[in-house]
Amino acid sequence: SAPLPPVEMFFFPFVGGGHQIPMVDIARVFAAHGASSTILAAPSSAPVFQRSIDGDQKSGRTIRVHTFQLHEDAVSLDTDTSAAPSTDTSALLEPLRELLIERKPNCIVVDSFHRWSAEVIDATGVLRIVFNGNGCFSRCSFEMLDAHKPHEGLDSEYEPFVIPGLPHKIEMTRSQLPHFHKAPPDGGNQPSGHRRGRPNNNHFGVVVNSFYDLEPQYVDCFRNVMGNRAWLVGPVSLFNRNVEDKAVRGKASSVDEQTCLDWLDAKGPGSVLYVSFGSLARLSSRQLHELAHGLEASGQNFVWVIGKVSGSEGNGEISADGDWLPDGFEERMGETEQGLLIRGWAPQLLILEHPSVGGFMTHCGWNSTLEGVSSGLPMVTFPISAEQFFNEKFIVDVLGIGVKSGSVEWSSWSWRNEVIEPVGREKVEAAVRKLMGGGVEAEEMRRKAKEVKEMARRAINQGGTSYADADSLIRELQNRNGD
Ligand code: UDP
Repeated sequence: SAPLPPVEMFFFPFVGGGHQIPMVDIARVFAAHGASSTILAAPSSAPVFQRSIDGDQKSGRTIRVHTFQLHEDAVSLDTDTSAAPSTDTSALLEPLRELLIERKPNCIVVDSFHRWSAEVIDATGVLRIVFNGNGCFSRCSFEMLDAHKPHEGLDSEYEPFVIPGLPHKIEMTRSQLPHFHKAPPDGGNQPSGHRRGRPNNNHFGVVVNSFYDLEPQYVDCFRNVMGNRAWLVGPVSLFNRNVEDKAVRGKASSVDEQTCLDWLDAKGPGSVLYVSFGSLARLSSRQLHELAHGLEASGQNFVWVIGKVSGSEGNGEISADGDWLPDGFEERMGETEQGLLIRGWAPQLLILEHPSVGGFMTHCGWNSTLEGVSSGLPMVTFPISAEQFFNEKFIVDVLGIGVKSGSVEWSSWSWRNEVIEPVGREKVEAAVRKLMGGGVEAEEMRRKAKEVKEMARRAINQGGTSYADADSLIRELQNRNGD
């Protein structure tokens, strides 16, 4: 029979670290499975995507970036997402419609935050597949909370309750829940819908950055109980490699990568804790002080990425001379070589995979969670907002590879964390000691984490579930193409 025509897939990421990074990696996944992948971008984000793709020579041949031509005053999708995501997306409606009609791709994979685009896409007849950055565990948890509302009618924000209907006993407090009822800061994007993980209606299916063996019962729930057609193709960060097998990210690192690697090379295997809170979270300077004291007192080696500080001027970028660290802290860390501080953006995958790194203190963003899992690292969980408290339960209570730091509260929908009481230095120190101190419990976590890492690798390789899911979507699109 005649060869089937190639499959053309469009990817439409939402701008911002935790959204755009996995979407570009998903484009890599399908490119690796033979699709011709095109990433759609507004002018100011296009160079970032291009840089990320250029660094990845293998997939560079099959991934393109399409830049929407927009009037300068209408480039609304490119706002820094550390402020509220912009909602004025109307400038993109027409260019998107025209592009889809002209190119007729086999499908478009669109971030669930681009809800505005559903109508336009559906009107063109192009198959719409939704990408929502979370795993199945948090989505099933939301679904069960929504259905049973166990958190309503409690006396206190801190009274524990169990989420009904889940295969594991998951306890939460109301203070840890995203505020379904609060008005979101980003207006038109309607987070109440996607917060609950309910993908927009009428889509063809959902692409998920996870893998079956990581959360089998929750994948089954997501598919069979919640009724989603889902292709689980992750962990997609495992596709984020260039020929030298170095991590390639969209952003340039704020630290010389070689300096960072040399620093790590000088440490013993598994002796370093990597501390990072993702691309958006801003910790208060009080919290940073407690963290600094706790890390220092633990005596453990660490690499600590400090991205943004809340309450600072302008857009929250850190200043070189701020008072957000204890007096003399940085000098001491330099002298003793206990800690390496990275201000801004770190080469996270590179660090996580270095053999000297033995633990990960994380805010439990889903990408970071999966990256930790893929590197076989046990974690200290330090959730701050959004689904992160769910992911913490997943890491600690379901996977059994984490120690909680004790952060219990967020105070607003926003990622500007205004936690009233910071996690104290004693708690930080205790959690770090427990994870890195070599006790029986920690060793068991380390063993399990390595097991999960192997599962992740099996999933994406030929014969694995993520490989099969990616392949089956491509085949389905191919067959429709041939019809
Ligand atoms: N990241 C990174 N360097 C940094 C901070 C973050 O490469 O200094 C990457 C990290 O590897 C992950 C993403 O940014 O892929 C953050 O996504 P996540 O879902 O963990 O958290 P979010 O930023 O959405 O809160």
